[in-house]
Amino acid sequence: MSVPKAASVVVIGGGVVGCSIAYHLARRGQRDVVVLERETVGSGTTSKAAGGIRVQFPTETEVRFSLESIRVFERFEEEFGIDPGYRKIGYLFCVSDEDDLRGFEARIALQRALGGDVRVITPKEAQGLVPALFVDDLVAAVWGPGDGMAGPAEVTQGFARRARELGARIVEGVTVTAIDLERGRVRGVQTTDGAIAAPVVVNAAGPHAARVGRLAGVDIAVHPRRRHIFFTEPFPEIPGPVPLTTDRATGFYFRKEMEQLLLSPGDVEDVGDDPNVAVDGRRVEETVEKALRRIPVVEHARIAGGWAGLRPLTPDDHAIIGPAPGVEGFFLAVGFGGHGFQHSPATGRYVAEWLLDGRPSMDLSLFDATRFARGRAVAHDRGPDAE
Ligand SMILES: Cc1cc2nc3c(=O)[nH]c(=O)nc-3n(C[C@H](O)[C@H](O)[C@H](O)COP(=O)(O)OP(=O)(O)OC[C@H]3O[C@@H](n4cnc5c(N)ncnc54)[C@H](O)[C@@H]3O)c2cc1C
Repeated sequence: MSVPKAASVVVIGGGVVGCSIAYHLARRGQRDVVVLERETVGSGTTSKAAGGIRVQFPTETEVRFSLESIRVFERFEEEFGIDPGYRKIGYLFCVSDEDDLRGFEARIALQRALGGDVRVITPKEAQGLVPALFVDDLVAAVWGPGDGMAGPAEVTQGFARRARELGARIVEGVTVTAIDLERGRVRGVQTTDGAIAAPVVVNAAGPHAARVGRLAGVDIAVHPRRRHIFFTEPFPEIPGPVPLTTDRATGFYFRKEMEQLLLSPGDVEDVGDDPNVAVDGRRVEETVEKALRRIPVVEHARIAGGWAGLRPLTPDDHAIIGPAPGVEGFFLAVGFGGHGFQHSPATGRYVAEWLLDGRPSMDLSLFDATRFARGRAVAHDRGPDAE
């Protein structure tokens, strides 16, 4: 499919965020929405996500994003005609430090006040949920039974499919190479397939957000960082389902995927923004060491493979959603770090409201694009870096 000559909105990036935005715009009746994807839909960092969905965030805005997104995942198949594989397996954080626990308690109060089901449980109770856990060094665990997981590919395809049915055009294999500006406002984009005139351009380029920002002369504080996930051969010694379980002391997390275990060392490493992220074999050893400490039975497991992806992080771990400073018509939906998949339903809705109604129906000042330049980055407790 070739690109049209004109569009009402051009969305750069056909990941889960871009596809959700296109869907919500089209659902609201916006015509001539075009998504441009350099590769194929969902092939970016969305394809690397572990699929985790939690209400356990540190701010009211993000907890509300989670609760709203969870409601969408719960009835996803009805709305999108695709089973997203949504399951409430829960999130379990193993806590071995009293100070860390105190940080959780403040956040849990907020999460519960907003309707989330999150509780502090004893190490023994944690072992009841995951019998393979070593708990002797834990002071407590934090349990979110309403948290869960779904398939990032299925969810992205769901958004893309309905967006297309509602008239949006999603063009794959096309790279945006320039953003045309005139007197400080967006006029359109140049692509490898020709120019498109458009009054609104949305940057949903995931780890390439900063690169795409530079096309419009805008600095965007998105810093991609590599994270690995390894998987074992079928491992019945830990029967599923188990919660997505994170060891706070090391950042290691695991969950069951069919018969296999998924294991992540929780690494955060600057390796540039090349989307073809290489796996560093040395991380296998680190992962196994961390795993042995929390689930000793993995000494009988065999690592069968793994992958690495880029998490588009910001300096305060909150996303950037809103108009880009200094360029009228340029909108940002970037910097989602390890939670862009799970927040994609709410993101799409509020971006569509912002573009169509002039402002969103929820206060999104947490995500203000100017906060880093103004030194206003939100300095609360960052909360668990779970995925
Ligand atoms: C190992 C790992 C585990 C994770 N686990 C979770 C999890 O459990 N839960 C969760 O919620 N999140 C998780 N995440 C984070 C999640 O993957 C991201 O936050 C989310 O996928 C971001 O989606 P996106 O649409 O913004 O980016 P992407 O999926 O990267 O989409 C951006 C798209 O833009 C395209 N693009 C870039 N530049 C251009 C251009 N110039 N022209 C055209 N197209 C362009 C790219 O090809 C890409 O497809 C994880 C990430 C990693 C790496």
